[in-house]
Amino acid sequence: MRYDTDNIFAKILRGDIPAFKVYEDAETFAFMDIMPRSPGHCLVIPKTPCRNLLDASPEQLGACMRTVNLLAKAAMTAFGAQGITLQQFSEAAGGQEVFHLHFHILARHEGRSLGPAGVMGDMAEIKANGEKLVAALA
Ligand code: AMP
Repeated sequence: MRYDTDNIFAKILRGDIPAFKVYEDAETFAFMDIMPRSPGHCLVIPKTPCRNLLDASPEQLGACMRTVNLLAKAAMTAFGAQGITLQQFSEAAGGQEVFHLHFHILARHEGRSLGPAGVMGDMAEIKANGEKLVAALA
């Protein structure tokens, strides 16, 4: 499977479409998911092309995991969470819809299920939750 340079996250990385950025370093970029399944649902991606877990290099995975770790801890603080669910889907059969490697960080609370996938969130709320994450990272 080839990397499609026109996938939506490649467009976000190029600045062709907007995103609520929460973190960036030389190798990774993190931004809010616009269809959140838990408060502050965000995504971590490598800045370099990579379709998913199956073609990722150790360097890309290592860089993403460093950022995932930072964001997971920030989400615990920002949303008073009791746990984190980390999701990664590879290929359509694995549930992947956007074909640029990404990790979902989902803050979890006891007894609260994840919301449904594919439901557009409230943009003002997503922005406010992104600001809470940024504040918790500081
Ligand atoms: P998946 O490939 O199954 O891991 O799902 C892709 C994820 O990307 C879903 O959770 C979508 O809500 C999210 N998503 C799709 N388009 C955008 C976008 N423009 N900005 C932020 N998140 C997005």
